[in-house]
Amino acid sequence: MEAADYEHYLGQTARFMATYRLNIAQYKVRPPLLPKAVYNQLPSGAPEQGESFEALLSDFERIILPNMTHWQHPSFHAYFPANNSAPSILAEMLTAALGAQCMSWETSPAAAELEERMTEWLREACGLPSHWQGVIQDTASSATFCALLAAREQAADIGRTGFGLGQKFVVYASEEAHSSVDKAVRFSGIGTDNLRKIPVDTSNFSMRTDLLEAAIRQDLGAGFRPLWCMATLGTTGSTAMDNVELIGQICRQYGLWLHVDAAYAGNAAILPELRHLFEGLALAQSYVFNPHKWLFTNFDCTLLYVSDKQTLLNAFALTPEYLRTAMDSQVNNYRDWGIQLGRRFRALKLWFVLRYYGLEGLRTRLRVHIDIARYFAALLACSPLGYEIVAPVLLNLVCFRQVPKHLISTDAGDDDKNTAALNAHNAQLLARLNDSGEVFLSHTKLDGKFVLRAVFGQTEVARHHAEKLFALLERLGVNGER
Ligand SMILES: *Cc1c(COP(=O)(O)O)cnc(C)c1O
Repeated sequence: MEAADYEHYLGQTARFMATYRLNIAQYKVRPPLLPKAVYNQLPSGAPEQGESFEALLSDFERIILPNMTHWQHPSFHAYFPANNSAPSILAEMLTAALGAQCMSWETSPAAAELEERMTEWLREACGLPSHWQGVIQDTASSATFCALLAAREQAADIGRTGFGLGQKFVVYASEEAHSSVDKAVRFSGIGTDNLRKIPVDTSNFSMRTDLLEAAIRQDLGAGFRPLWCMATLGTTGSTAMDNVELIGQICRQYGLWLHVDAAYAGNAAILPELRHLFEGLALAQSYVFNPHKWLFTNFDCTLLYVSDKQTLLNAFALTPEYLRTAMDSQVNNYRDWGIQLGRRFRALKLWFVLRYYGLEGLRTRLRVHIDIARYFAALLACSPLGYEIVAPVLLNLVCFRQVPKHLISTDAGDDDKNTAALNAHNAQLLARLNDSGEVFLSHTKLDGKFVLRAVFGQTEVARHHAEKLFALLERLGVNGER
């Protein structure tokens, strides 16, 4: 592309980006679900001759946009958000312009050193132990996998020797732990049969530490080798908080590596008033959280911290001759801190976000989100239409379901029938909400109950979006009283 054209289309793309942001609330949050709707509009092969940039932009608006789920829409309440912000988007544009590959210090010294600083800034901002060292990875799934591999390599030199018949590692996490732990266990060679899912306390969905200790003792008695335990701060289902302090003491007593998955809730550690939720972290060997979820930083951006960086290096460092440099002893080569060799420049967007908002600006926004969730929970609680809040509202997620009176039988022994009827009813309610295109929520099951999850984490979400969701619920839900 000619320089003048590049500048022209930069302007045009930038204008689209600005308009998209202004008008985002006018889009349907989630498109109609029509499998192959996009695929069938695309030709079966790449064009032989180049096309004009106008054609590309216009097809982007015609084919792609109407079939996107709009993650930055303020009525996106599903999953956990992947919220972004103007400074982050602008940094991503610069990152794309630089097009750097940040595998080693020498391949991009500024990227490596900015990354080092950013991991320190966030460590201090979140009140994490000051000797921890961090690295920016792509996702929490990768980071948890790395933490498990580091623990495995520390315990036995599996990377070199392979698994011998004598290795009977077992690992632990709660029943509410994220599925990335199952994946990590599967691919580390430890095997999902050797992952113990510890039951949770059904009043708050946090791991039963008495049952954790009992499981470890039983495994020891049966000749297994307890290796690693993952505690979750902020489960994906309901933002439940495991008791890291107690779990950490148990891990210490029995010699397990403690990994803490705070993928979502870890962002809330910038709030001093919520620090008590993070007590006991000093007992952990590794810790992960995702600024790409709830810190206005574009996906992907995951922070992995370890209490001893040598454990990561022992598992991952590998220096072929062609990557050896004279600087290696003085710098961080982040390719040695994880699986990927090639790495994106992810620190720049974090730097822009942290400086543009300042920690105080970020705290204010998180507090607004938490406040909206509490407000929404209060709206539900006051409704005559029978809404039940199913888990404690600790942050900005409300787990709820509708319990219409006419669906409930009070006859003894009808509990299962009631649960099935309520689950079917709430699944229908969710489908009606999402098909409206006005809002987008997701669901989970807690203690066998189908519950709707409403997260208030979009950058521009406000109280009136909670009111809009509530009004839709009142319109689309079963009117149990009348
Ligand atoms: C979202 C989430 C993950 C996975 O995050 P990725 O970065 O998408 O891999 C892991 N754990 C918890 C608790 C999560 O909420």
